[in-house]
Amino acid sequence: MSHPNIELWPALAAREFTLAVRRFATERIAPAAGEIDARDLYPRELVKELAGRGFSAITLPTEYGGGGQDFASAVALFEEVSVASAAVGVSLLTIFQAQTMIRLFGSDSLKQRYLPQFAAGLLASYALTEAAHGSDIRSLDTKAHRDGDAWVIRGEKHFITSASAAEFFVILAETPEGVSVFAVPLDTPNLSIYQGHNSATFGLRNGPHMNLLLQDVRVPLDHLIGTEGKGVRQAVTTLDYSRTLAGAISIGIARAAFDGAYARAGQREAFGQTGLGFQGIQWYLADAVSEIAAARLLVFHAARALDTHDAIDRYGSEAKLRASEVATRTAAMAVQVCGAYGAMMNSPFGRYLRDAKTYEIAGGSSEILKNTIGKYLLRGVAAGRT
Ligand SMILES: Cc1cc2nc3c(=O)[nH]c(=O)nc-3n(C[C@H](O)[C@H](O)[C@H](O)COP(=O)(O)OP(=O)(O)OC[C@H]3O[C@@H](n4cnc5c(N)ncnc54)[C@H](O)[C@@H]3O)c2cc1C
Repeated sequence: MSHPNIELWPALAAREFTLAVRRFATERIAPAAGEIDARDLYPRELVKELAGRGFSAITLPTEYGGGGQDFASAVALFEEVSVASAAVGVSLLTIFQAQTMIRLFGSDSLKQRYLPQFAAGLLASYALTEAAHGSDIRSLDTKAHRDGDAWVIRGEKHFITSASAAEFFVILAETPEGVSVFAVPLDTPNLSIYQGHNSATFGLRNGPHMNLLLQDVRVPLDHLIGTEGKGVRQAVTTLDYSRTLAGAISIGIARAAFDGAYARAGQREAFGQTGLGFQGIQWYLADAVSEIAAARLLVFHAARALDTHDAIDRYGSEAKLRASEVATRTAAMAVQVCGAYGAMMNSPFGRYLRDAKTYEIAGGSSEILKNTIGKYLLRGVAAGRT
C-alpha cells in the first residue's frame, strides 16, 4: 500500500495510545478474527488480555480502579480493536453497557461492590430484549416483585450478546412500578443460560447470543439499579453512551474493508494495469474514504459530547446511524472491488459485510435512531430554537 496506515487514518485521540492499541490489534487480535467468526467463539482470552491492560474499564473513574480516560480514547480503542475484529469490539461493548448502568444509576453499595470487579476484568452482558419485546421495551414479560429482603425475578431474555461467557448480567424486568433494572451475578441460583433457536447471527459473531432463563431468581434489595419504574429511561441513557462506541466499532469495520480493497486494487492487474489504475475503481475508493472520514469525525464529536454531557441522545444516535450505514456501503464496495476474491469464504470481506449490516439492527436499529433524532428536533421546535 502506498500510504502508511497512520496517514490514511490519523489518530484522533492521544496518538501514542491510539498507535499502541493499533499495534496490539494488528498483532494479537487480527490473526484470530477469522476463526472467532467462523466458529462463533467468545474471544475470552483476548478480552481478558485487553481487560488486563485496563481497556475494559477505560472510562471508569480511577476511584474504582478504572482508567479514568475520556471518551475520545474509548472511541479510539473500540475503533482500533474492531478494525481487527468487530466481535472483540462488541465483547468489550457489553461489558461497557453493564458497567455504565451501575456507574450512572447504581447505589453506593452496588458501585463499591461491582465497579472494582469491572476494573479487574469482569465479563458482562446487558439484557433488555425478550421474544416479544425488542425495540419497544416499555412493558416486559419478565416480571419482578419484592419478597422480604429480596427481589424475585421470573422470565426469559433473548439475543443476549456475550452471554455465553458473561460472569455478570444487567437485566430489565417489569415490577409493579414499571420497568426496572437489576444486577444479577452469574452464580445466582435459578438463573440458567442456554442456546435458543435464534442464538446464531450471521454477523457480529462473538459466541451465540444466548437466552437467559430466570426461574424465581432472588437478588438482594440493593441489586435494584437506580429507581424502581425508571428502567426504560435508565436503559435508554445507557444506550446513548454505548451507541457512540457502537459507531466506533462500525468505523473499525469500514476501515478494515477499505484497507483490504485498497490493498487488493493496488496489486491485482487487469488489462495491463492495476485495479487502482482504473478511474472507476479510484472513484469507488474515493467515495468510501471520504464517507468513512466524515462518519469517523461524527463519532469522535459524539465522544466529546459524552465528556461534556451535551445532547448525547442526538449525537450518539447520529454517530451510530451514519457509521453503521457507511460500514455496510464500504463493505459492499470492497467485495465489488476485489472481484471473485471478495466473495470467497477464504477472504474476510464477507465477514465485514455481515458484521456491518448486523450493526444496523443491534443496539438500536437505524429506524429507532432516527426516531431519537426526530424527538430531539421536536424538542427544539417546542423550545423555540428553530
Ligand atoms: C447481533 C445482535 C446482538 C444483540 N444483542 C443484544 C443484547 O446484548 N441485549 C439485548 O437486550 N438485545 C440484543 N439484541 C436485540 C436487539 O436489541 C433487537 O434486535 C433490536 O432492539 C430490535 O428489536 P427487534 O429485533 O425485536 O425488532 P423489532 O422491534 O420487532 O423491529 C422490527 C423492525 O421494525 C422497526 N421498528 C420498530 N419500531 C419502530 C418504530 N417505532 N418506528 C419505525 N420503525 C420501527 C425496526 O427498526 C425494525 O426494522 C441483539 C440483536 C442482534 C441482531
